[in-house]
Amino acid sequence: MYEDTLRHMGLRKILVGNIRKNFIDSAGKKGINFIVDDRVFEVMEKIPRHFFFDSAFEKFAYDDNAFPIGSGQTISQPFTVAFQTMLLNVKPNDRVLEIGTGSGYQTSILVELGAKVFTIERQKPLYLKAQVVLKKLGYRAQFFFGDGYKGLPAYAPFDRMLVTAGAPFIPEPLIGQLKVSGALVIPVGKGSEQVMTEVIKITDKDYKVNEHGRFSFVPMVED
Ligand code: SAH
Repeated sequence: MYEDTLRHMGLRKILVGNIRKNFIDSAGKKGINFIVDDRVFEVMEKIPRHFFFDSAFEKFAYDDNAFPIGSGQTISQPFTVAFQTMLLNVKPNDRVLEIGTGSGYQTSILVELGAKVFTIERQKPLYLKAQVVLKKLGYRAQFFFGDGYKGLPAYAPFDRMLVTAGAPFIPEPLIGQLKVSGALVIPVGKGSEQVMTEVIKITDKDYKVNEHGRFSFVPMVED
C-alpha cells in the first residue's frame, strides 16, 4: 500500500501526456476556450492517483476514466480534473473551497498548487478516508463533514470555489461567500449531463456566467 514505483510514474507520465495532447488537439472544441496551463499537468504527473484507489483496483488508476470509490461515488476522470483545475486558475495562497471531497485527489492537486484548501463531503466514509490519504502524502487541507450547498460561512470569503458534483442549480450561498473578482467553477444541470459553468463575481451584487462544454458528474445532493 502507498508505494509509488517507477512503473506507476511511467503510467502517470503517459496518462498526463495523453490528456495534454487532448487539450492541445481539441483547443476551441470541448469548451476549451481558456489558456492551457502546464502547471496543472506537472502537478498531475507528480501526484500518485493510485493512492486514492483500493489496492485491488489500482491498475485502473492510470486510465483516463472515472472510477467507483465507495458510497456510490466516483473519483472524477483525469481529463475532467485537469479541465476544472485549469478553469479555476488557482494562485498560491488562494483560499479555495472545494465541494465534494470524494477520494481527495482533486483536493491534493489544489494543495500542491499552493492553495489553502477547505473541502466539504457529505459521505462520512469518504470524508474520513480522504484525510488518511492526504496525511500519507503530507498534504494539509481543512476537511468538513456536511452539506456543500450551504458553503462554509465561518471561513468565507473565498478566492475560488470548485464543485465536483453535478448541481441542479447554482447555490446562492456560494456566490455570497465569494470575494469580488473571485470565481466559482460548477457543473450545472438537472439530468445526466451538466454544463461546466464558470461564475465570476464582478461586484457585491453582480456576477457573470461563462459556459465551457458538457460533462457527466455524480449528482450534488441536498440534505
Ligand atoms: N473531487 C472528488 C470527486 C468526487 S465525486 C475526487 O476527486 O474524488 C463528488 C462528491 O461530491 C461525492 O463524494 C459526493 O458524496 C459529494 N457530494 C454530493 N453532494 C454533496 C453536498 N451537497 N455536499 C458535499 N459533498 C457532496
